[in-house]
Amino acid sequence: MASLPIKAAPGDAKGALVLFSGGQDSAVCLAHALAHYPRVETIGFDYGQRHRVELEARVQLRQSMSALKPEWGAILGDDVLVDISGYGQLAESALTRERAIEMGQSGLPTSFVPGRNLVFLVMAAAHAWRRGLDVLVGGMCQTDYSGYPDCREETLLAQERALSLGLDMPVSIDTPLMFLTKAQTWVLADQLGGQALVDVIVEDSHTCYLGDRQHRHDWGYGCGTCPACELRAAGWKEWAAA
Ligand code: ZN
Repeated sequence: MASLPIKAAPGDAKGALVLFSGGQDSAVCLAHALAHYPRVETIGFDYGQRHRVELEARVQLRQSMSALKPEWGAILGDDVLVDISGYGQLAESALTRERAIEMGQSGLPTSFVPGRNLVFLVMAAAHAWRRGLDVLVGGMCQTDYSGYPDCREETLLAQERALSLGLDMPVSIDTPLMFLTKAQTWVLADQLGGQALVDVIVEDSHTCYLGDRQHRHDWGYGCGTCPACELRAAGWKEWAAA
């Protein structure tokens, strides 16, 4: 078995690249990175299935977060949005075939895009390599999304190993939300940035599958009835009641 490049201890990391979609989870990941790494950049992916508002929310959310603390503003560096619509088409065409029915029967949501996080992490690692960053931070979580096999810790450990070998550079994948519930994600946001960060996430992050920015709830904007809104609302309610 080939030996892995030696990984830096967390305190010795050069810097982090955050997979930043503009959603609630990616906002907490960005706050986590700003609190733990000396240099932070962000990357987002447009795979042709996102609403424009979601991509616009990224820009606003980044701005609001960097203004929260002077040290965050100093640490937060560049952002890049990568067009991977070719992958989006490929994933979508797979869904229109018999696999969609099979996935529905196996309990996976039919909105599942096969291998999405694997693709994101390969693209992010290539960018990190060029930018001299050695940690990838992502909001993958196996608590609420146990149906998504590319969100499992085991998958990510294997990919961390594959990326480190394939790039001949120690790469860490940091997933601060892996074992948290949606309510606990709010607790973490509060710990990292207090009420000011919670307020920014509520106001500027976007989660709704339908791209709804018309309806404002105490947990943020959204249609209120799609699965993403239901999950976000339930997490908020549980946190607010605690
Ligand atoms: Zn919604």
